[in-house]
Amino acid sequence: TGEMPPRKRVLLKVSGEALMGTGAYGVDQQTVERIAADVAEVVRSGWEVCLVVGGGNIFRGLAAAAKGMDRAQGDYAGMLATVINALLLQNALEREQLPTRVMSAIAMSSIAEPYIRRRAVRHMEKGRVVIFAAGTGNPFFTTDTAAALRAAEMECDVLLKGTQVDGVYSADPKHDPSAVRYEELTYMDVLSNQLSVMDAAAISLARENRLPIVVFNIGEPGSFPRVMRGEGPFTRII
Ligand code: UDP
Repeated sequence: TGEMPPRKRVLLKVSGEALMGTGAYGVDQQTVERIAADVAEVVRSGWEVCLVVGGGNIFRGLAAAAKGMDRAQGDYAGMLATVINALLLQNALEREQLPTRVMSAIAMSSIAEPYIRRRAVRHMEKGRVVIFAAGTGNPFFTTDTAAALRAAEMECDVLLKGTQVDGVYSADPKHDPSAVRYEELTYMDVLSNQLSVMDAAAISLARENRLPIVVFNIGEPGSFPRVMRGEGPFTRII
């Protein structure tokens, strides 16, 4: 009657922009459904999956502060934007027959559970997909930092950062044809060369907790399950 071996756990960070699809603002329903189908495939292949979703498709505190808005107030609005995205993702995941819980770092008890680490772990052990909403709950942070924080708290084996590019490049591949994609970088490479992958707080947190980060293009249908099978393209940060 030996114990079951622990299942592998992954945290997927979905940027708000990834939910826009080809749109310029807001949420593209088809894109959300497609991402949900990709998550379902990874769950069915045996992984425990949790998500952190951004809000940049709706509101960014930093951008509002640049136009004179109080930074903290703007950041709270940004965190609420992530809750909207979380509810849409939850609905799409449930339509894929995946039991899903939204846990919010800002109390919003009518629509989401409060974030309680041990309860989140329990959800995951039961095979539920957990969506962490409202970032860290604190202004002056980003959802990338929230992703590194929750991944550490959930003892995830890996943090996947889904972006619009298929990895980290030496220059912007959209503007510089000589740009090359890195296969592997160290946390220090990212920090000392100020590579725009995730903010420094997120990278430092991942480094301290030896949490590998994989950057890939979530805009590519099927890319999440492919990356989980070890198939590129992607950039690994270790
Ligand atoms: N935010 C915050 N604290 C957090 C996470 C997010 O204040 O812990 C705010 C911040 O204003 C940010 C916005 O929420 O601009 C949306 O999150 P983010 O920009 O990280 O989303 P993404 O770029 O992934 O879409």
